[in-house]
Amino acid sequence: MTDNNTSITLFDDGLGQATKAASGIISPWLSKRRNKRWYHLAKDGAEFFSKLVKDSQASYDVYQRSGTIITRNDPEKLTKLFELAKQKQKSTPAMGEVLLLDQKEVKQKMPILTNPPAGIWVSGGAKIDGSAFVNHLISQAEGLGVEIIPQKIKFADNHHLRFGNQTESFDKIIVSTGAWIKQTVLPLGINLEVRPQKGQLIDLNFSKDHHFDSYPVLMPESSSDIIPFENGKLVIGATHEDDCGFDLQPTDEAKQLLLSNARHFISNLSETDISDVRVGTRAYTKDFAPFVGSLPKYNNIYVAGGLGSSGLTTGPLIGYLIAKRLSGNSEDSWSDYSKPISNYIG
Ligand SMILES: Cc1cc2nc3c(=O)[nH]c(=O)nc-3n(C[C@H](O)[C@H](O)[C@H](O)COP(=O)(O)OP(=O)(O)OC[C@H]3O[C@@H](n4cnc5c(N)ncnc54)[C@H](O)[C@@H]3O)c2cc1C
Repeated sequence: MTDNNTSITLFDDGLGQATKAASGIISPWLSKRRNKRWYHLAKDGAEFFSKLVKDSQASYDVYQRSGTIITRNDPEKLTKLFELAKQKQKSTPAMGEVLLLDQKEVKQKMPILTNPPAGIWVSGGAKIDGSAFVNHLISQAEGLGVEIIPQKIKFADNHHLRFGNQTESFDKIIVSTGAWIKQTVLPLGINLEVRPQKGQLIDLNFSKDHHFDSYPVLMPESSSDIIPFENGKLVIGATHEDDCGFDLQPTDEAKQLLLSNARHFISNLSETDISDVRVGTRAYTKDFAPFVGSLPKYNNIYVAGGLGSSGLTTGPLIGYLIAKRLSGNSEDSWSDYSKPISNYIG
């Protein structure tokens, strides 16, 4: 596909498992994380979305730049964060407008809140419907001639992949199997140190007359995010559950926790408003940072992963950089964004 000499095949046995489960927020600028490489990646990743959305013609159902509201429980900390946000805004056009909103002003932006908190409004913040995003990208890829094979692969050696009863040879291989990447590269004798983390979200359904799609996302400190979508849907999430392995069972405990967190801001919610519970498996490294690059022993194999809880923000840019590298249009351009791969091999 893409040109006369290159054919591309995408193997995926779960068609974007974590990505599909996520209702993602793209708003990394006021994160509490102190990892500079991660921030650089997340900041550029958020900015990259304007190109991705335009080039792939993603519709409003997939990606909405409807703003985010970030809170702090301590009013003094909120004022300090606002000062920092104004500072960052000067060199970060993607943040858009930055304002400190009182409770009344937050209520005006999200009328469904019964107990609105004060917060910082960042107009460039966005939300993504993970499932619609995966479907959109797959259909775009198919349109460009990428062959999609919904099967699990196993490495036979560094050029040969087994799937079903077949084995096929590839010149270059990109491995981005999310939380499963450790198992994927083990047959090559490489131990990538990545662990799974379970994440659950609940969908609350209201009357379709609610136009939540124009609402911003509420990101309250030490609580669950409230992510409004069209057709009266509010998504509340997500949990961060270690020690659950690859378990994808929704739990009552998570449901109750997420509902009770949402009730701090919308007091009249009831369990009957829950229409769905979605579960995904995130991938974490020991320093919570993503990695990208070619494997030390096999320079035809590129790996990218450990995207953790911000992979919708960072993943597309990582994919773009690898694609550019493989099409010969750039040298490795990720050293500012992630530590060398050797840091993540045990
Ligand atoms: C509940 C939840 C909420 C989240 N919220 C946000 C958010 O607000 N903002 C944000 O930026 N990020 C968010 N994230 C994180 C983000 O969704 C993930 O980091 C990102 O989607 C990971 O993408 P990935 O392609 O690495 O993994 P995945 O989307 O999991 O894709 C990996 C795919 O590889 C497949 N696979 C595995 N092994 C093989 C094999 N051997 N052969 C073939 N295929 C294989 C899997 O089945 C899977 O489909 C959230 C995640 C979760 C779970």
